[in-house]
Amino acid sequence: IWADVLGYVRKNISEVEYHTWFAPVKNLGVQEGSLVLGVRNSFAQEWFRKHYLELLEDALRSLGAQHPQVSFQVLPAAQDALLLPSDPPPAPPVPGRVSAPPPSDNRKTLNPKYTFENFVVGPNNNLAHAAALAVAESPGKAYNPLFIYGDVGLGKTHLMHAVGHYIAERFPEKRIEYVSTETFTNELINAIREDKTTQFRNRYRSVDLLLVDDIQFLAGKERTQEEFFHTFNALYENHKQIILSSDRPPKDIQTLEGRLRSRFEWGLITDIQSPEFETRVAILKMNAEHNRIDIPQEVLELIARQVTTNIRELEGALMRVVAFSSLNNVPFSRAVASKALSNVFAPQEVKVEMMDVLRQVASHFNMPPDVIRGSGRVREVVVPRQVAQYLIRDLTDHSLPEIGQFFGRDHSTVMHAISKVTEQLGKDPELTAAVETLRRKMKGLEDEDS
Ligand code: ADP
Ligand code: MG
Repeated sequence: IWADVLGYVRKNISEVEYHTWFAPVKNLGVQEGSLVLGVRNSFAQEWFRKHYLELLEDALRSLGAQHPQVSFQVLPAAQDALLLPSDPPPAPPVPGRVSAPPPSDNRKTLNPKYTFENFVVGPNNNLAHAAALAVAESPGKAYNPLFIYGDVGLGKTHLMHAVGHYIAERFPEKRIEYVSTETFTNELINAIREDKTTQFRNRYRSVDLLLVDDIQFLAGKERTQEEFFHTFNALYENHKQIILSSDRPPKDIQTLEGRLRSRFEWGLITDIQSPEFETRVAILKMNAEHNRIDIPQEVLELIARQVTTNIRELEGALMRVVAFSSLNNVPFSRAVASKALSNVFAPQEVKVEMMDVLRQVASHFNMPPDVIRGSGRVREVVVPRQVAQYLIRDLTDHSLPEIGQFFGRDHSTVMHAISKVTEQLGKDPELTAAVETLRRKMKGLEDEDS
């Protein structure tokens, strides 16, 4: 009957979901009237209970079962390739019984996908990753608080959850609370309205690890700031670990009380930048493997070229390509991928790659590309370099840090170059002509290509 159940499930969920969740499931047979399924870890177990229990019961009902029952059991460690090597093996399953639920209820708010194992480390995030790992290994002792900031979709939430999972696995007795600033605020408002602020306080002040996401939303919320201030102090004084994420560093969060800002700066502040090309490809590759999708490297590279700043969008693009080729029943290819992504990324957004721009600039100024990218500081080199950075920013979607990295410099240098060129446009005839000629040439190039 298991094959029939799977058939039913498969019809009712997406292919990607099916492969992610159902492909690794083991049928352990029927015990005491209940279909027992083996899953890879306690997170998968929770996930199944929450998301697929009803679907599975429906499947059994469709096969004639009157009172369908399904339970989940965690399989022994060897079957879970995703666990870290240093992981202690989970307790062997008790035959005929579903293993105990995780000790602390709030763990289920952690996304099972957001683990360290699933986090690709690159130059853009290695410091944040190392800091998170250090905190996970000695909570409350390494850096407190850990403050991670960066643009949306770059992995802040993922890293926070990863610390949560890591601590949950190693220290089952520790209480972990993950909360978005928005939820924290709403809960506080409700608690005040229902006269339950004591419960609210007890709950947040009794945890061992508090993860607060998108703390920039504290801005302007005086009452919440006040409450969070006391929560922070209570935890900090008891050496409990606090991790905060934000889209900007503490000093840039407007209307944040000084005493909170300074507390946020007590520990370690670390940032995540946009991933460079290689990291983007690696993330796509890991995603594809995780979902058991066999997709050629060149197609992954094409996707990685199209989506440059946001990892969530990068994953979305991969899923779009997968959906497109399975719907049309065609194998993955660059052509198929371009087509799948063409509605999302309009033709005018087609990337003129950084190297192309650099080459054009180099030939215009009659100078080898490497010299322009080099460290020379004479005007003859500096001007072409600034023009190249300006044009790359103008014609491609690369972020300032990415452009900086391409030139072996940091993003503030690129910012400076861009404002320099902008300032001179219209004033310096030679520079203006160069920029215009190059821009026209490159727009033309794009047209020829497409
Ligand atoms: P943020 O909280 O910074 O907005 P998220 O943590 O929600 O970003 O990440 C967005 C998506 O990108 C998630 O699906 C996450 O798993 C994925 N992601 C981000 N960084 C990485 C990484 N380094 N390796 C693998 N996946 C990543
Ligand atoms: Mg987030």
